[in-house]
Amino acid sequence: MLIINDDHLRRVDVCSLDELCPSCHKPLREYPLLLSDEAEPSVYHVACALQLATEILVDLFTFFCPPAPFERLFVFTVEPSQPFPQSGGSDAINRY
Ligand SMILES: [Zn+2]
Repeated sequence: MLIINDDHLRRVDVCSLDELCPSCHKPLREYPLLLSDEAEPSVYHVACALQLATEILVDLFTFFCPPAPFERLFVFTVEPSQPFPQSGGSDAINRY
């Protein structure tokens, strides 16, 4: 959630802009800010939230597409000896 004024800040139970950003540990000081949707929500500077999101995306990309000489840890395949289930099978999601 984007926080752009004092009313938004009060709604997320942050009392003042003097509270610290959990990422950089500096006072929030000015808008805009971002509220995380974690189990225990926190308010971040927009730049800090973007940096965290970018780091997560880079880590995920590196995990699924590691640079040489490393190989992927997981390769998703379908075993040819097993017949495909009927459309959707017993799952609620249609697999085709
Ligand atoms: Zn910060």
